[in-house]
Amino acid sequence: MKEIELDLDLAQYIRNIPDFPQPGVQFKDITTLLKEGPAFRETIERLVGLFEDKEIELVVGIEARGFIVGAPLAYSLGCGFVPVRKAGKLPAPTLSKTYDLEYGSATLEIHRDAIEKGQKVIIVDDLLATGGTTRAVCEMVEELGGRIIGIGFVIELESLKGREKLSSYPVHSLIRL
Ligand code: AMP
Repeated sequence: MKEIELDLDLAQYIRNIPDFPQPGVQFKDITTLLKEGPAFRETIERLVGLFEDKEIELVVGIEARGFIVGAPLAYSLGCGFVPVRKAGKLPAPTLSKTYDLEYGSATLEIHRDAIEKGQKVIIVDDLLATGGTTRAVCEMVEELGGRIIGIGFVIELESLKGREKLSSYPVHSLIRL
């Protein structure tokens, strides 16, 4: 791969939207990073750098913003991409997992044949908050026999301690807020 300089302050491209989608939430908007070519490219390159020597076979991306980051990462690593989607979207037989959110619950699904036993997998999403979403995805990947080599996020909200829920895996984040 062509060498590019990795020296941007990626945090400055993240837009904070107070009280979205509900009062009290500081929403971290990555669209302001995605629309800047050099920043988007550097984001992907930095993630590639974290995993390129790990012989990864599959990148698992979490709907929807995990797809935006996960697909170019898989392409650059030369490995496959597996989507984890919200309930009812995947057409073939699925494994599903329901997990608790701050208010209510959510269900995620993955195709049962998406991962072969023993395959080396990384999981990616845009942001680590409480860790509940990624934890549910880890459980699904392992139930299908995947070996989780690492987990990558663009942003980590450190005060929410999501990392503690993922303590059995190497967790990497590019921007800590
Ligand atoms: P959690 O399960 O609490 O770690 O939440 C992670 C998921 O919710 C990710 O898919 C994020 O995109 C989304 N999310 C949670 N909190 C925020 C936030 N403050 N800003 C943007 N996205 C968020």
